[in-house]
Amino acid sequence: MLSILTGLIVVVSAFYAAHSVQRQQLVKASLGNNYVYADKLAKTTDDFLNSAQQQLMFSAAVLAENLDKKNILEAEVDRVRLQTDTFNSVLIVDVSTEVLATSPEALQITGLKLSTQGVLESIAKKAPVISDPYISTVGNLLVFISHPIFSSKGDYQGFIAGTIYLKQASALHRLLGEHYHKDGSYIYVVDKNKRLLYHPNQARLGSVVEYNAVINRVVQGQEGESVVLNSEGIEMIAGFAISKKAEWGIIAQRPMSAALVPLETLMQQVIYKTLPAVILCFIFILWSAKKISTPLKMLADSAHKMNEDETEKNIQSVKSWYFESQELKKALLLGVGLLHNNIKKLREDLHKDPLTGLGNRRNLDATIQEFKNLEIKFSIITIDIDYFKKINDTYGHDVGDKVIKNLANILANVCRLNDVPCRIGGEEFLILLPNTRKEDAAKIAERLRVNVEQAEMPMVGKITISLGISSYPDDSVDVISVLKYGDEMLYKAKHNGRNRVEVFDV
Ligand code: GH3
Ligand code: MG
Ligand code: MG
Repeated sequence: MLSILTGLIVVVSAFYAAHSVQRQQLVKASLGNNYVYADKLAKTTDDFLNSAQQQLMFSAAVLAENLDKKNILEAEVDRVRLQTDTFNSVLIVDVSTEVLATSPEALQITGLKLSTQGVLESIAKKAPVISDPYISTVGNLLVFISHPIFSSKGDYQGFIAGTIYLKQASALHRLLGEHYHKDGSYIYVVDKNKRLLYHPNQARLGSVVEYNAVINRVVQGQEGESVVLNSEGIEMIAGFAISKKAEWGIIAQRPMSAALVPLETLMQQVIYKTLPAVILCFIFILWSAKKISTPLKMLADSAHKMNEDETEKNIQSVKSWYFESQELKKALLLGVGLLHNNIKKLREDLHKDPLTGLGNRRNLDATIQEFKNLEIKFSIITIDIDYFKKINDTYGHDVGDKVIKNLANILANVCRLNDVPCRIGGEEFLILLPNTRKEDAAKIAERLRVNVEQAEMPMVGKITISLGISSYPDDSVDVISVLKYGDEMLYKAKHNGRNRVEVFDV
């Protein structure tokens, strides 16, 4: 889970990083494009206005000595208006603001004295003028471009002017007012008074826009690029530049959503290309997690069943393929080994007399039961030390214990491999002799008696024992009776003077 979580975090953050980098790149590219477009338009507008002024300058030179020739004036205004698509109207005005000629004639202002913004500014300056856009007396939003006429002596005689109606078809309108973008991109133009000169929404032309971050920057003479909200609250990527000649700001902008259209496709490609590796990676994580946890799980399962005999084999079979699991396996095997040894030792101790190391009463019972189950015939020798109380009284209990131990050693030595010597009471013993006939048991008992009689006990010197013999199933098919007969024979031996063997006779 930890590995998968880590993997997921890495993948998600990589996608997030890719997404934001792509987004930044797209926005940056779009900002740059819009600025370049706005800048190009601004320069083209400057060129256009220069060329318009040059046309008027040329006419002004022609007209300088011909202001009194009406037919020349009329021919010249028509030529200037009709030769190019620059001006919507052309007029010649003298120093007294009287209109000497106009094209088209339909304006019907020839002979009138004018006091419009453009006329007054031109007369006042006596220099080339490009007026701020203004709304004329008949309601046209226009720009007034004029060039002064000086006589050959240098006297100011008036000017020739062309007007461009911003809302009507003209070269400038085509340049700034017509753009064909399907993705919501558009351009608009403002003058230095924040008045809209060109805008896709015709109804807004001529209106003043007070609160627009980009327009505010443009009228301060700045050029550049910026992300802004437009008047409809749509996030726009804007580039803006200034036509120096007219002091107009040209803003090219594109909706953020349109600029980010390729982002979805790009991200899809990123996902398609990384997904196979990611899936493979997760499969590998799952596979190796399983590989790592399997030996641990198997070892843990085995550890739960430590006491079972199969456990050691089960632990051995676990494929611990890496260092830590190998160490764990070793430790478990060691633990199981120790545990089983301890259990074995406890089991043995349960059947053992601690003083002599011979079998105890429990061992006797278990062995007899085993012989019975396997239908093994056996004889028994019951043994008791003669006058043992005296030894205890004379030499003390500890010395008595040593005598018991010594006797046990002698018993163990005389016994054959399959014989089972047991200590069944204080100084009482019993030997089980499997597959041994009564006569043979008697011989062994006699040998034992002699061995004990001859043995030298430390401090005590000589001791003797009395012995009784009985057999199963010869004497009885009931084991308890056989044991009782053995006891009786021992008693008989005591009675008959001790240090002797008595054999039960049916
Ligand atoms: P007998 O010849 O009739 O057998 O005489 P005995 O004195 O040996 O009599 P008995 O067998 O009845 O006495 C057993 C004595 O052995 C009683 C007890 O003081 C002593 N005894 C029993 N168990 C132990 C033991 O574990 N250690 C020692 N030192 N003495 C024991
Ligand atoms: Mg006794
Ligand atoms: Mg005794």
